Amino acid sequence: MTDVETIGAAVDRFLAGERTLALTALVLKSSGDAQERLCRAACASRDAHFPARTVEVRSVLEVSNVCRQRCRYCSMWEAEGSPRYTLAGEAIAAIADGVYARGRRVLMLQSGENPSPAFVSHMAAAVSRVKAAHADLRLILCLGSLSLEQFRELRQAGAERYILKFESSSPELYHSVKPSDTLGHRLAAMEAALESGFLLGSGSIVGLPQQRLEDVAADLLCTTRWRLGMVSASVFVPGERSGFAAEPPGDVNLTLNAMAILRLLNPDCLIPSTSSLDRIEPGAQLRGLRAGANTVTIHDGTPDELKAAFPIYSSQRIMPREVYLRELVQRAGLQWAEEALK
Ligand code: SF4
Repeated sequence: MTDVETIGAAVDRFLAGERTLALTALVLKSSGDAQERLCRAACASRDAHFPARTVEVRSVLEVSNVCRQRCRYCSMWEAEGSPRYTLAGEAIAAIADGVYARGRRVLMLQSGENPSPAFVSHMAAAVSRVKAAHADLRLILCLGSLSLEQFRELRQAGAERYILKFESSSPELYHSVKPSDTLGHRLAAMEAALESGFLLGSGSIVGLPQQRLEDVAADLLCTTRWRLGMVSASVFVPGERSGFAAEPPGDVNLTLNAMAILRLLNPDCLIPSTSSLDRIEPGAQLRGLRAGANTVTIHDGTPDELKAAFPIYSSQRIMPREVYLRELVQRAGLQWAEEALK
């Protein structure tokens, strides 16, 4: 058999339910007809579980750039000496009012990892305030690893969802990209977030330096270990001021194949198609929706003057506007959801 035939046969076996590591790694190499079949099956799986064919739309507000981690792909911590900020509760509430008025019903509050009791209590108070004003605004928190008590405090304040990515299921690879953390610590935090009652989102990065195809496959297969409501396979984008600045970005086709596999493994999860795909290859965010994704993000929460102070990947990152995203959703044959999907 040629390589193309071998990969095509692997896709058939995967779609028939065979889910071994070696087979999944082969499926990740799909291109041409095999990739089309994989993506068609992923979309069929999504549409069976989300029959209205809607795409969840999230606003993001970067509430603070204070962070105790030192991720090697992130430009934020490299900016030593640059201004650190934490938005006041009034500012968070006012921005939430604004995104709600624009029709958004899902808001993600994101920050660096800062488990100080003062910051977590500050966030809990902000969450309570936003929920008191907009009970139907679904709140996603993305604040890094916290303790069970801290997750409970935030959940009791009214936030419904939490995103905590495991990044890589290989302890060595995880530690090499996050030298200030361990995979065990991150997995324990994921369990704590679940135990506190959050709808949990997690996922991995595709294209990390030193990452093998089998690592990517293992990351995808392990997502079924937890009761996840949101799952992602994000393309690696080296931060321009990060320790990985000279590394090549992740491969777009590999990431799209990973997203399609994720959909088949997690048919009822929300899966994002991110603007970072477009940054590497224009048009790739649309291809993400055609690979089974059903979530897009609008960076319309963070005030313009603070956007440069939150450069996880790059100060040049693409922040698509609503009109562009609406067009993508339409071109993918999907609908713009007016409400949260979970
Ligand atoms: S990626 Fe997030 S957790 Fe890691 S250093 Fe950057 S802000 Fe901190």
